[in-house]
Amino acid sequence: MKVMFIGLGQMGSGMARNLVAAGHRVTVWNRDRAKAEPFAALGVGIADDVVVAARGGIVMTMLANDAAVEAVVFGEAGLLRAGPGLLHVSSSTVSVALTERLAGAHAAAGQRFVSAQVLGRPDVAAAGKLAVIAAGSTEDLGRVQPLFDAIGAVTHRIGERPAMAAAAKIALNAGIPAIMQMLTEQFRIVSAHGITAAAMAELLLATDYGNRLIGSYGPIIAEARFEPAGFPMRLGRKDLGLALAAVSGAELPLTELLAERMDAIIATGGGEHDWSALGQEGK
Ligand code: NAP
Repeated sequence: MKVMFIGLGQMGSGMARNLVAAGHRVTVWNRDRAKAEPFAALGVGIADDVVVAARGGIVMTMLANDAAVEAVVFGEAGLLRAGPGLLHVSSSTVSVALTERLAGAHAAAGQRFVSAQVLGRPDVAAAGKLAVIAAGSTEDLGRVQPLFDAIGAVTHRIGERPAMAAAAKIALNAGIPAIMQMLTEQFRIVSAHGITAAAMAELLLATDYGNRLIGSYGPIIAEARFEPAGFPMRLGRKDLGLALAAVSGAELPLTELLAERMDAIIATGGGEHDWSALGQEGK
């Protein structure tokens, strides 16, 4: 399948490589062209002009935040200018409001749009084992399923409206800091009594208390492996902001509390630490 991939950051580079490995005919574009250059050795075309390269085809985007997606879609050389027939698969974690706006704008341009959110950190993306949470029309999702199969281990179709995938992803991410904070506090309780954090992490898993998140974050927190970040605090804080913005009239006190902690860490220079450092004193 012919696909253009935009956004070769920590996640996107692994996803794009797996599309290539699965035999799809991939063209890439990244704002900083240096991140695209290594793809030339894989026989991948590097696009100079997004509008020309995207025309009529399938485009997958994996960009930092709302502003980045807005630039790539609504900008002067953005996807909306690529004319009718294009199908945009958006994997960036962005707001529900922007996702709704994207759906409307693509439809008005005669284009198709699906949201395909991904769960998993950069190592999981590189291994092609992401969980994909997708929303869009059944026809569009069926068309791009081979792409999901290349980047992920499993696809969950959550609904017909792309905003439903954005909401699901935001809700999932809002829960992760709570679990990380819980782990940090559990390690603190036992460390005063001769049990190492690593031993406690093992105990949580061995007693079935564990799950995928504890398995992933327990060892990172226990070993204080906060740098280099798989997912930096600044992006985690963005996601809690998205969660707070996704509700109106409902209270999210835990999310607010954790967002405040992240703000304090970022204000003292911790924005590039992994977000699992949120429970550390003095970070
Ligand atoms: P990243 O490494 O920081 O990459 C961000 C990408 O966005 C880069 O390609 C960057 O281009 C591009 N970008 C930023 N601003 C832009 C702009 N104004 N115009 C065009 N391109 C722009 O981030 P990541 O970790 O890959 O995450 C990407 C998305 O996936 C985020 O929404 C994140 O929340 C989500 N996500 C991350 C993880 C994770 O564990 N890391 C897991 C699941 C989902 P340059 O190279 O030119 O800067």
